[in-house]
Amino acid sequence: MARRKSKAPPRIGFVSLGCPKALVDSERILTQLRSEGYDISPTYEGADLVVVNTCGFIDSAVEESLDAIGEALDHNGKVIVTGCLGARREAIIERHPQVLGVTGPHAYAEVMAAVHAHAPKPHDPFTDLVPPQGIRLTPRHYAYLKVSEGCNHHCSFCIIPTLRGKLVSRPIGSVLEEAARLVGAGVRELLVISQDTSAYGADLGYRPEFWEGRPLKTRFLDLARALGTLGAWVRLHYVYPYPHVDEVLPLMAEGLVLPYLDVPFQHGSPRILKLMRRPAHAENTLKRIERWREICPDLTIRSTFIVGFPGETEAEFAELLAWLEAARLDRVGCFTYSPVAGAAANDLPDHVPAEVAEERQRRFMALAARISAEKLAARVGQRMRVLVDSVSPAGAIARGPGDAPEIDGVVKIASAGVARPGDFLDVTITGSDAYDLTAVPA
Ligand code: SF4
Repeated sequence: MARRKSKAPPRIGFVSLGCPKALVDSERILTQLRSEGYDISPTYEGADLVVVNTCGFIDSAVEESLDAIGEALDHNGKVIVTGCLGARREAIIERHPQVLGVTGPHAYAEVMAAVHAHAPKPHDPFTDLVPPQGIRLTPRHYAYLKVSEGCNHHCSFCIIPTLRGKLVSRPIGSVLEEAARLVGAGVRELLVISQDTSAYGADLGYRPEFWEGRPLKTRFLDLARALGTLGAWVRLHYVYPYPHVDEVLPLMAEGLVLPYLDVPFQHGSPRILKLMRRPAHAENTLKRIERWREICPDLTIRSTFIVGFPGETEAEFAELLAWLEAARLDRVGCFTYSPVAGAAANDLPDHVPAEVAEERQRRFMALAARISAEKLAARVGQRMRVLVDSVSPAGAIARGPGDAPEIDGVVKIASAGVARPGDFLDVTITGSDAYDLTAVPA
């Protein structure tokens, strides 16, 4: 019998094996499912998906669990595995590679995330206090998508790892479920954020999962590729210049993901980067940037820098200026170093006087503005797809692939016709200044 398809709440089949502790886990998951509005199906055929809570105590229990998973797959096809045998993921995947997800015992939140990913949570407009996409503070047409929390690095000027703890990545199915819900609710641009997006999934051992029947790993490349299929712009923020980042550049060249990378380089002097204890400080970043641009010539690179870091000499600052001149970054922000209570950099010798740091900031930003102006001037005459942010009698303010909201420039369109916020518009660039472009509808 075919699985049912209707507007009714999703129905979850449940198979509970094992000891009383597993039974309590089953009860908790079933309680959570019901409290979120899911129906429970007594048959495989009547279910949208089936959760199998397994036992892995002795060999016969393992066999029974593997058989139960096979039976659920035969009768329904969409199966999430949890429980004690889930701790031996390879044994399950080897016998049943088509399962949608595997979690271990007591993993209530992960089971629910897997359920949400494959049978989205029902929304009842009469009883739910929030819309299905949640409450957001951004305009309706773009949204931030946080893929992990915390950070495994120890940059000497930063106390985020102390405040927020080590890297904890969200399972890829849960991220994609949220992204799909946002796009369904009208979001046209997803801004992927975290403390270290390129490290996504490292804490989970790049765990494999299934999404919409496709095998995916919980890692940066798979995430970027899957997000790129949702039909919205995907913009990647807080990416470090690790070698594996090269792999996403072809996705940008193909148009699946925006040709935009926000990479917080922070400095160009190897000694200062080492003092900062930056991730990837030993990488040859100029070579890496060159390689990225070879793969995707249209790439916009945004970055932030700190000048006046303790010990920064005039020669090292000049090294930074030379680095920026060579890197020709498109979008640049610059802060003067300021000590944060609890940060290791406070104990470094040779703090730079505030007026010296401010003067370096001015010189740095003057160079950045010149490079930006030159790069934007080269865009004049090009056609570009833009996303409209706001409309007024004076025209529309939009953003192109190289402009993240709030931090980058804009595209000003004097007569945008009937365009509304959230519309995509094809324009021809007619003018530029240091940070912004002007355009007319193409
Ligand atoms: S600045 Fe360094 S330590 Fe702080 S969040 Fe970023 S990568 Fe982690």
